[in-house]
Amino acid sequence: MTKPLLCPTCKSNRMRFTVIEQVPRYIRLDPQTGEVVQQLQSDELDVFHQPYKGESYMIQCGVCGTTESEERFVKMAQLMQSQRPI
Ligand SMILES: [Zn+2]
Repeated sequence: MTKPLLCPTCKSNRMRFTVIEQVPRYIRLDPQTGEVVQQLQSDELDVFHQPYKGESYMIQCGVCGTTESEERFVKMAQLMQSQRPI
């Protein structure tokens, strides 16, 4: 996180953010009861079970609560930077 961030929703917050870690847990359920019967590591998944490929963390704006990928915040900061009159 070394680039400036700007919230794409409230467009005012550049300072207060919350990092939401996304940790995938792979589980097998009993199809009848829904009970968890097994927890798996990502390298134990069979060919029918896709590993999680999403963001490893999300960013939440500490002011308005918008939660997006970090890229959205970075893009907004860059957009506002490029629109600034020289
Ligand atoms: Zn915001």
